[in-house]
Amino acid sequence: MVSRVIPVEPFDLVIFGGTGDLARRKILPGLFRRFCAGQMPPDAAITGAARSDMSEDEYRDFVRDAIHEFGGEQNHDEDKLSAFLECLHYVPIDARGENGWRELAGLMRKGMVHAFYFSVAPGLFGDLAERLNQHGLTDEDSRIVVEKPFGRDLASAKELNRDLAAYFDEGQIYRIDHYLGKETVQNLMAVRFGNMLFEPLWNSQYVDHIQITVAETVGVGGRGEYYDKSGAMRDMVQNHLMQLLCLIAMEPPSKFDPDAVRDEKLKVIRALDDVEPHHIVRGQYDAGDEGPSFREEVGDPRTRTESYIAMKVGVSNWRWAGTPFYLRTGKRLKARCSEIVVVFKALNHSIFGEQEDHRNVLSIRLQPNEGMTLGVTIKEPGPGGMRLIDVPLDMSFAEALGKDGSDQTDAYERLIMDVIRGNQTLFMRGDEVEAAWAWTDPIIDGWDTRGDVPKIYDSGSEGPVDAVQLLARDTRVWRKVAS
Ligand code: NAP
Repeated sequence: MVSRVIPVEPFDLVIFGGTGDLARRKILPGLFRRFCAGQMPPDAAITGAARSDMSEDEYRDFVRDAIHEFGGEQNHDEDKLSAFLECLHYVPIDARGENGWRELAGLMRKGMVHAFYFSVAPGLFGDLAERLNQHGLTDEDSRIVVEKPFGRDLASAKELNRDLAAYFDEGQIYRIDHYLGKETVQNLMAVRFGNMLFEPLWNSQYVDHIQITVAETVGVGGRGEYYDKSGAMRDMVQNHLMQLLCLIAMEPPSKFDPDAVRDEKLKVIRALDDVEPHHIVRGQYDAGDEGPSFREEVGDPRTRTESYIAMKVGVSNWRWAGTPFYLRTGKRLKARCSEIVVVFKALNHSIFGEQEDHRNVLSIRLQPNEGMTLGVTIKEPGPGGMRLIDVPLDMSFAEALGKDGSDQTDAYERLIMDVIRGNQTLFMRGDEVEAAWAWTDPIIDGWDTRGDVPKIYDSGSEGPVDAVQLLARDTRVWRKVAS
């Protein structure tokens, strides 16, 4: 199946931080793929901006190298690459300085969308917004894209929101959570709201519990210093896992429209229960074949930051009261996998007599091998009587939809095209981010006040043993962490 590509209108995109890691690995190669797909028109213009003193030709060489390294299958098409590089400019600019702004303003063409991607540290967001305003670049054609982390607590998120709101309307601010750009995450909404089958069962009457897992095999590596100030709660739960939880738990919006969707997500965040300390397990990986311990990697033998977290979360509303959501995420685990698992309740009564517990389980796999599996109970084949077994109805998106149906389009490129189209559905609204921090802050404050120390777990394992007990206390088990 070939996916439809609808070209966007020509645009001017400025990437502040255009020489950084994110621009090199994700943004620029993603734009190149959209160019090759025919979605980015040849008269679009992309301007890299950073402090480094580079000529336009040097920047084009930099981008060429980035695309050779990270551009995927199309990176060998030198004709297309040369045509893409023609769309590029570079302006040396310090977010806090005065030079280069007039030149940048001169590159912005009248009557086009002007998108400014803030791919820099959040401490520079306010400066960039202010300079853009000083140079007349905050009109109705302008929009800004801001990267995570959006604050490190409620107070800093509010401050960032205030800094941006001084010059931009909420409708011009695109806060990226790249998880929302993943094909399967969007499919979650399609499955829930495009099928009659699931919605009647999607509540605490039929769903026993839900598990959301985002497991990584890598450790913090060279990002130790940054990560030590963040931890799994701030880095993953407050944003990515929270967004997945919202999409699973939200009520159907009246239409697939940015504010209707985001209103419903916000209601979920506001309905989250406070989390009891004994419903959270935090961990740090030990040294192993995979590398040094977390403490060694962050360079602090006494750090209390967590590289793993598992928690039981309640959603106090009509639909979900009584159905726990178990979230877990961690580094240096056994396998890399992101998965949402909806475990339905057991039958009230089995006409087949005493048999093992059979339940329907819907698992939605975000990575790797995007797809969905629905576990159904059938008769064991053969003449052995009415014995029941569970088998998966398996739909791999890559197999079912062909290459174009799998996540070939990286989340970043999909989201950037949405920015150009002016569609905010897959971006977080300011009040959503603040509500997520308002829920997260007391949990983190509690650890600090009590001086909680994370448990040590083996590198390459499924996490601390206490996380197993978190579910065992409720007579439940985690799904295996497997790729
Ligand atoms: P990075 O590799 O450190 O790059 C930072 C960029 O900002 C460079 O281009 C740097 O270039 C520029 N810069 C720094 N100070 C500047 C200033 N005063 N004025 C103008 N430009 C300045 O960081 P990154 O990994 O690309 O991350 C960028 C943002 O994305 C961060 O907020 C990060 O948290 C977020 N993010 C990154 C990733 C990722 O995978 N890398 C993932 C999610 C979110 P010069 O030094 O030449 O100025």
